[in-house]
Amino acid sequence: MDAIKLIADWDPRPGYALTPAERVSRKATMACKVFRHPHLERQQAPDPTPADGEVVVKIRNCGVCGSDTHSVETDADGYMIFSGPARFPCILGHEYSGEVVAVGGGVRNLVVGDLVTAEGMLYCGVCEACRKGWFNQCIRLDMVGFSSPGAYAEYIKVHEKHCWKLNGLAERLGSAALACEQGALVEPVGCSFNGMFVAAKGMTPGSHVAVFGCGPIGLGAIALARATGAATIVAFDLSPTRLDCALAMGADQALDVRSLASQGGSPSQIMREISDGWGSDMVIEAAGAAIQTMPEIERALAPAGKVVYLGRTGERAPVMLDILVSGASSIVGARGHAGGGVYPQIIRMLEHGVLDIGGMISHRMDLLDAAAAVQRSKTREDAKIMLVAS
Ligand SMILES: [Zn+2]
Ligand SMILES: [Zn+2]
Repeated sequence: MDAIKLIADWDPRPGYALTPAERVSRKATMACKVFRHPHLERQQAPDPTPADGEVVVKIRNCGVCGSDTHSVETDADGYMIFSGPARFPCILGHEYSGEVVAVGGGVRNLVVGDLVTAEGMLYCGVCEACRKGWFNQCIRLDMVGFSSPGAYAEYIKVHEKHCWKLNGLAERLGSAALACEQGALVEPVGCSFNGMFVAAKGMTPGSHVAVFGCGPIGLGAIALARATGAATIVAFDLSPTRLDCALAMGADQALDVRSLASQGGSPSQIMREISDGWGSDMVIEAAGAAIQTMPEIERALAPAGKVVYLGRTGERAPVMLDILVSGASSIVGARGHAGGGVYPQIIRMLEHGVLDIGGMISHRMDLLDAAAAVQRSKTREDAKIMLVAS
């Protein structure tokens, strides 16, 4: 089959001591510490065959993720920016959906012809974190498209325990193609859901919500906040396309932080204004720009407000922690989307028409043009680039 692989040199940074496990497995705990000079290549790969418990999915859609962008971008020394676990070379791509075309022995829930999307966090189910329900913190975690073969390819094999059916959604939409496109968005929106409703334990209807960063995670947060009864939603970004998408996903206001600053305004001022002075009950940081965002957030957090930190940055952020004491507020971090009812409940919301996320797709390209799509994503002008199998 055709597949788009990320290739990079195994060249640990000077001063970085590999762990014994990294030396044996060649899987880096943090890709940015080890992998250098990354590039994408279209190559032939063997067609996958399912082992017991596994199915093979013919890919119909795959979204381009910010992590894919980070894995081809490098710092001044040529090391990749992506900081998650990875073992390269690896077929990239993890936000996928498609049709089951082969079923291994002992598979109980899926048959050939089922439409599915699947979790990209391949948890073991055996370690203590998994058995406590913290699947995204699995100590043996593999990630589709980084340390396990991904979905920028014609086929992928996956254990049935990671798959969720889209048959009901296809029936409701009257279109397998539409269901698969929305199904491929469950992964990024799942990260927002996991942060807001599983890790931070949710918000009450009538809350004031602010979202920093209108990439897919921030856009997913906007759609979820609207669907679950937010009173107001204000969003901040720098890209005009992303700000338009924020409005389309349900934000009441979407503002360019730079033009706001040039007019002498600030996000915290807007957050106070839109909430009649009360402040934001829930703030989603999906910009990964903590140095700039945290000081603004702390100025406009409501009493008992929750900051859900989903952006990634290697830098330390200035935060006045006294807000957590005097405001009984909290900062909650989260990654991933496995467990917690995330996938089935998002699919259920889509099926019943209470969540609409298709509006975040700003561009479509052919699945096997994934390398060009990742290249395009570096401009950060698009909200979500969706790849479609021809
Ligand atoms: Zn992703
Ligand atoms: Zn585990």
